[in-house]
Amino acid sequence: MNPLAPLDAESQRFGLLVDMDGVLVDFVTAALRLHDRMDVGENWPAGTWDFPTVLGISDREFWHPIHEAGAEFWASLTSYPWCDELLSLIADSGDWSILTSPSHDPYCSAGKISWLQQRFGRGFRNFLVGPPKWLCARPDQLLIDDNDSNVRNFRARGGQAILFPQPWNENHALTIDRISYVREQLEQARAIG
Ligand SMILES: [Mg+2]
Repeated sequence: MNPLAPLDAESQRFGLLVDMDGVLVDFVTAALRLHDRMDVGENWPAGTWDFPTVLGISDREFWHPIHEAGAEFWASLTSYPWCDELLSLIADSGDWSILTSPSHDPYCSAGKISWLQQRFGRGFRNFLVGPPKWLCARPDQLLIDDNDSNVRNFRARGGQAILFPQPWNENHALTIDRISYVREQLEQARAIG
């Protein structure tokens, strides 16, 4: 899949901003594996975002082994099984960019860019790395993200957003068919836009 050009005002289509962790790539399983807590994966307390709390450890304890693993941790995260289908649905809906927030470790961004280059090629430039995702909020921009707060903030700033269903967010009951949910939401957004 080729990265697409910046939003064409004449196309009347919205731009899509796509989160990585929890949407395209499986950060959670990799983190649970590092902590030797794979048991939590199947029994996630529905709607609870705070990963350290779920594991019963401090923030520092949660991030320490991940930061120790450095860029390689982020570069080697596996795609979710629905990644290809989701990306083609997104590409059919409009021009898109990755919008991802790094951890506190500077090497996280390097690993994420490595991941993107492995996936989309060395010349891939359609990405933004930064925590304040709401800065990109505009009526013609639609964020797809698994974090409740990111989605709320993006909408509050005038953007459109789809909360990607995951056990750790408010759409946890919709994880049975994530792609159908996103498709339906994209159709609604298109109808309104
Ligand atoms: Mg995410």
